Amino acid sequence: MFLESNVKLQPAGWIEVVCGSMFSGKTEELLRRLKRARYARQHYVLLKPEKDVRYSEKAVVSHDENAMDCVLVKNSSEILRHMSGVEVIGIDEAQFFDDGLPEVCENLAVAGKRVIIAGLDMDFRGKPFGPIPQLLAMAEYVTKVHAICPHCGNLASHSYRFAQSDETILLGASDSYEPRCRKCFSLGDKLRWKKKSDPGK
Ligand code: ZN
Repeated sequence: MFLESNVKLQPAGWIEVVCGSMFSGKTEELLRRLKRARYARQHYVLLKPEKDVRYSEKAVVSHDENAMDCVLVKNSSEILRHMSGVEVIGIDEAQFFDDGLPEVCENLAVAGKRVIIAGLDMDFRGKPFGPIPQLLAMAEYVTKVHAICPHCGNLASHSYRFAQSDETILLGASDSYEPRCRKCFSLGDKLRWKKKSDPGK
């Protein structure tokens, strides 16, 4: 929240973080912000780590297939190669980046750029994920978005994984993950989701 409404805005950069569980609309919110910047004719770039190759090599695709072209990068230092003339930087799936990402974002913001980060704040164990915790501490603006827990209808902050794997990075769709509230997440396998007919169809 921005309470100091009388502060005179300076032409400086800043960091925004949009985070939450799977199916919380993080990517949609990132794309919404970038589309507004595009409409204002600001130069922007959308980046994501090469590890996230779920649906498309060259587009950030959210679960509802709301897509936007993007650049794949191998690591955080490679981000700097794509900054020529750019005013607004969007970074999706930021939890998959290395520990150098916060410093890269800091340098970009100091250089006057608007940096918008989207990513999972917690992994499937409920633990802070990759460089996101540090970015949350550094950011001027933090937005936590929520899914809805399919078991109780409360806001969901956790990503529960059904798959029997201990790999932290398991890119998934709806058959391997579901969003859960804190309490239902704590119940683990005791809760089994009975598939109902899809109310959206
Ligand atoms: Zn719940």
